[in-house]
Amino acid sequence: CAESGRTIALPAGEEIAALGQGTWYLGEDPARREQEIAALRLGVDLGMTVVDTAEMYGDGAAEELVGEALGGRREEVFLVSKVLPRHADRKGTVASCENSLRRLRTERLDLYLLHWRGRWPLEETLAGFFDLMDAGKIRHWGVSNLDVADMAGLTALPGGDAVAVDQVLYNLSRRGIEWDLLPWCREAGVTVMSYSPIEQGRLLKAGALGAVARALGATPAQVALAWVLEQGVAAIPRSGSPGHVRENHGASDLRLPAEALDALDAAFPPPSGPTPLEML
Ligand code: NDP
Repeated sequence: CAESGRTIALPAGEEIAALGQGTWYLGEDPARREQEIAALRLGVDLGMTVVDTAEMYGDGAAEELVGEALGGRREEVFLVSKVLPRHADRKGTVASCENSLRRLRTERLDLYLLHWRGRWPLEETLAGFFDLMDAGKIRHWGVSNLDVADMAGLTALPGGDAVAVDQVLYNLSRRGIEWDLLPWCREAGVTVMSYSPIEQGRLLKAGALGAVARALGATPAQVALAWVLEQGVAAIPRSGSPGHVRENHGASDLRLPAEALDALDAAFPPPSGPTPLEML
């Protein structure tokens, strides 16, 4: 299980694994804990080293699980967490990050995101991010669930153009960002990270996806994930099952031929006009 697969560049040039792991709902059920820890560790073994969590998930329970699973392997992982909008003033951002670091059993995050836009002005959150950068507690910062207008506003602020990532809902059944946000981010050099890349499992039942997968000798999850990667977008599927993690990892080396891409476009058409960013 040597490291393999695609990488994607952050704006500053650093390459990270294009296929990582999400953690929403992990760490909440004691009966599943051992299996979830095994799944996260296996994912890192396989090179899915971007691990995405948030203070919101299980009120810190997901971060604690990640700390337990990966605390001893910190240097192998590109660790991402997020501040809740209601905490995202300057002081609150710093305090939330420090709490996340404690639960994650580490001294620094690789990437810290504003989870979505709330009532605090973005300047406040940015000031918190800059304090954390200066203190060496985060290496990069970014945002989540920000559409084009908010991204344009953010990057116009002093220091705002250093935003590394916009993490957004993107999968075959949610292609709205292809109209404007994705091209905007490409132009601005902001890395896009897809959350819910298999639509929380719902996508896997689609007949057209199954047909493409069968033709390629792959699984629906692998095709759905490979399709996201094919767009130059990172993906963070979540699984608490080692078998699913192993399966999902197969997407990292799967290339989709033109016929497969055409069949997917026919079944899951791209947007034909502006589409407000959706959120889960
Ligand atoms: P996903 O699209 O990753 O789907 C997760 C679900 O799919 C789980 O129920 C999982 O169950 C199942 N699954 C995973 N792999 C397979 C497989 N190969 N075959 C069958 N079922 C599978 O949904 P998420 O919403 O969790 O999104 C991924 C991550 O993105 C989150 O965990 C979180 O880290 C992040 N996120 C960020 C948001 C934001 O606002 N920034 C919002 C939503 C998510 P099982 O455990 O049994 O494998």
